[in-house]
Amino acid sequence: MRLVLLGAPGSGKGTQAKLLKKEFNIPHISTGDLLRGAIADKTELGLAAKIVMDKGQLVNDDIVLGMLKQRLAQADAKKGFILDGFPRNLVQADMLDKLLEEINMPAQHAILIAVDPEEVVGRIAKRAEIEGRTDDTQEVVRDRIKIYEKETAPVVEHYKQHDILSEVLGTGSIEQVQHRILSVLRF
Ligand code: ADP
Repeated sequence: MRLVLLGAPGSGKGTQAKLLKKEFNIPHISTGDLLRGAIADKTELGLAAKIVMDKGQLVNDDIVLGMLKQRLAQADAKKGFILDGFPRNLVQADMLDKLLEEINMPAQHAILIAVDPEEVVGRIAKRAEIEGRTDDTQEVVRDRIKIYEKETAPVVEHYKQHDILSEVLGTGSIEQVQHRILSVLRF
């Protein structure tokens, strides 16, 4: 199973990806988590990325692609993967198509988890209290949503054209959303 999860910040991609990882026993690859890992390790790349991430902006395409390429080269990704947070713009979508073609592992499904922007702001405010992510402040969240709408929403169209896009409603309980995703994947 090779799956790309799409959705606004706070749409529940990460939560659903973790459940899908258990269900299909394939790695959950989140570029946000890879970047936060680099920050925690205090690498040069991590320190540079943190400045960009804290403003809610996108990290350089080539840097993120490089991290992703390394992660996909690990043994566990040979059985498939759930991509979360990549691609985030049309340039990354083309980069990903090329990379996956090269390793003979094209994406089979792209699933958009659709939620209302106002719902998303409320969810992230809750997460901010629990996790304390430095990019979850109200102001930065608004900017992240704007960037999502401008840069990432067109990626949905990209996968529609490739005929692998499905859309599921992201409201309701975690279990309901998971059920909707599994129904799509088992179709
Ligand atoms: P969310 O989906 O809630 O915005 P992520 O953990 O996916 O959270 O991303 C957090 C931040 O990490 C983004 O705002 C961006 O700065 C950076 N980031 C993650 N993935 C990418 C990517 N594919 N390209 C560029 N920047 C990225």
